[in-house]
This record gives sequence, structure tokens and C-alpha cells, in this order.
Amino acid sequence: MSEQETHKDQGKIERRGLLLVLSSPSGAGKTTIARHLLESDPGISLSVSVTTRVARPGEVDGVDYRFVDRQQFEAMRLNGELLEWAQVYDNCYGTLRAPVEAMLARGQDVLFDIDWQGAQQLGEKMARDLVRVFILPPSVQVLEERLKRRNQDSLDTVARRMSEAAFQISHWAEYDYVIVNTDVSQSLSSVRSILHAERMKRERQLGLSSFVRSMQKEL
Ligand code: 5GP
Repeated sequence: MSEQETHKDQGKIERRGLLLVLSSPSGAGKTTIARHLLESDPGISLSVSVTTRVARPGEVDGVDYRFVDRQQFEAMRLNGELLEWAQVYDNCYGTLRAPVEAMLARGQDVLFDIDWQGAQQLGEKMARDLVRVFILPPSVQVLEERLKRRNQDSLDTVARRMSEAAFQISHWAEYDYVIVNTDVSQSLSSVRSILHAERMKRERQLGLSSFVRSMQKEL
């Protein structure tokens, strides 16, 4: 990231933008946490992924995902338009590079609701700016109940997602922070604290050294 791609939301000190990744098995509550965070923090914007998955009831194209067919997805991948991509279940998901770069250039932090494969790829490309958070359900029973209650996927899909959950969870140790989502508001406040502390990191506050230098001149 260049020096220009910074922002000034902490007084006069220019800050380097960060990439906040939230991963979890489906049904652990990550999407709810992400939505509340986005609503309450104007400094962070969602990276809207592209997917070949069919839209669920209530999902809006361009808001929840950009829904594309396989051919369109493949073209984006081959053109190098994707910062990362992965096959999850039977569908492909990917992050478009251009909107992420535009958000960082505007001085926004970027929130990613992506899986461990995406987190790994971002780690290879943008490790310095990456903060990875894994959300765990409080128990297997609660995870299953949440998937059933959501009632947007068929029972067959619920069973498959349960078996996938074990695999997703096996990647927990690749994350910087792990939150057990027993209570959404508590988890949200944990994510906010993480974001706040990560924003305060010395190396992200690009304007600090000139601020301190000018202060030293006056001492
Ligand atoms: P869902 O179909 O339930 O919306 O998402 C399934 C999984 O795909 C979730 O774990 C979600 O985080 C992940 N996912 C969504 N978008 C992306 C993406 O752009 N890249 C990657 N690697 N995973 C994604």
C-alpha cells in the first residue's frame, strides 16, 4: 500500500488501512456480527464477493454478493480480477481486486467475510495489513440449530454444511484472534476491540514519526 492510501480518522495522524477477515463455519453467526459492525463503524466497508451460488431469499445482488455464472467467474479469475478465490461446497467464491483497492485508496478499512482459503491467499499477498478473526459456535448443537432455523438451505445442505464445519474449524489456529460466539453483542464488542487495537498499532499510524518529530522540535 502506498503512502497516499492512508486516512486520518484518529486526530491528525495518518493511518494505514487494514483488511479485517472474519471466517467461521456457516451458521456460527459471522454474518450477523459483520452486519452490526458495518452499521456502527463508518470507517470500515464490506468487500462484496462474487459467487456462482444461487441467491438465497432476501439476498440482494451487489449487496450480499455479486451473483455470476461459472463462465463469468472463470473469466474474472483468468483476467486476474480476483484477489483471492476458493471453491466452497459446490460453488466458487472470490474477492474482486478493484473495489478493495478503491476502498483502501478512499481511506476505508475493508471487511472480508471469506473462508480459510481466502484468508491464506490474502496472507500471502497482504500479510502486513491483514487481521484475521475466526468465529466459533459455542457448541455443535447450537451450530446445527442455527443452520436449521435459518431455513434457507435444504435439510440436505444443512447436513453437508455440518460435515464441512469440522473441516472449516480445523483451520482455527491460522487466525490472529478466535471468538466463541455465545452472545452476539459480546462477540461484536470483541471484534470492535480488536479493530480498535489493530488501528492503533504503531506501524499503521504512518503520520506518527512526523508528528513526534515536530513535537520534539518544540521541546
Ligand atoms: P455462504 O454460501 O454461506 O454465503 O458462504 C459459504 C462460505 O464461503 C462462507 O464460509 C463464506 O465466508 C465463504 N466465502 C464467501 N465469499 C467468499 C470469498 O470471496 N472468498 C472466499 N475464499 N470465501 C468466501
